[in-house]
Amino acid sequence: MPVRSLVAYRENSLRAIARSAEPASREVREAAEDLRDTLATQRGVAMAAPQIGIPLRLFVWDLKRPRDPGGPPARGVLVNPEILERTGSVPVVEGCLSFPGLDLSIRRPERVTVAGFDLRGSRVVYTGSGLFARMVEHEVDHLEGILLPDRQPPLSRLLSLWRRRRWEKRWEKLP
Ligand SMILES: [Zn+2]
Repeated sequence: MPVRSLVAYRENSLRAIARSAEPASREVREAAEDLRDTLATQRGVAMAAPQIGIPLRLFVWDLKRPRDPGGPPARGVLVNPEILERTGSVPVVEGCLSFPGLDLSIRRPERVTVAGFDLRGSRVVYTGSGLFARMVEHEVDHLEGILLPDRQPPLSRLLSLWRRRRWEKRWEKLP
């Protein structure tokens, strides 16, 4: 399965709400393979289908560390994810593969419970905290067309505007 190129941050498709997917369909299994292969070439821990130009509700992850005992899988795929519960709120510094080199300080829930389907069409429910919780929030945001800079509170958005401008200038210079 091919490694796909990432959709550039300014493409409107990243702003679209992704379509519900048929979990065990060939289309979704192929999309998941492409996502896994593409993620493996990147430094990130997860990737949502819209990031490689597929407007479907699924994402893959690979936390690149062993599974916590009793915790969610360290790698996997989730189709039609739905966050059932969020608890806590913690400050984090977060990046996004669609915005290379941009790290922003935002808040995310400390712990989430997410439901969805695997590639056999079975329903799965995972509860996790820390990196897993942040990853789920970030990827579900992608499926809603919500991007990392949208998660900044208004004041810090203003304060970091100059950093983003500087980042965009650098990004535009790349081939
Ligand atoms: Zn992202």
